[in-house]
Amino acid sequence: MQSISFHSLAYNLLYDMAAETLARLNPCKTNNNGYCAGQDDGSHLNNLRCCRECSNVSKVGACKVKSLACKAWICRAAAESNPEAAVELREIMEQAAILGLVAPREPKGFVMSHLGSIPAPKSWVMMDPDSSLW
Ligand code: SF4
Ligand code: SF4
Repeated sequence: MQSISFHSLAYNLLYDMAAETLARLNPCKTNNNGYCAGQDDGSHLNNLRCCRECSNVSKVGACKVKSLACKAWICRAAAESNPEAAVELREIMEQAAILGLVAPREPKGFVMSHLGSIPAPKSWVMMDPDSSLW
């Protein structure tokens, strides 16, 4: 049986891979005003549209937690404008899903304490109603 430390290491590795893809390919194209590729409706409640209404957004619009599901997810607008990034992130997300590590908007600690009980994702609409990577 795989140990919790294996899942912790896998979580960190996949998170870092997703972060590297985002940094290298910049699918979100977030500008200096905090607007991004998926932000075409003028809404600006938080800096990142897909983080809207999430309790983990800080007062300055940054994410306060380490969430692999969020890091490897991009919306339809970002995915369609950057297919290379979408392919890389989807592969990362698929690996995370196989290991049961995908819990949108939940921090790593939640995932580590719920190993084996997190269902495989079927849809990403929970993070943005009009966008979906899968
Ligand atoms: S947990 Fe996810 S949705 Fe919430 S602020 Fe962080 S990245 Fe955004
Ligand atoms: S995933 Fe979409 S909505 Fe979220 S920051 Fe990237 S471009 Fe914006």
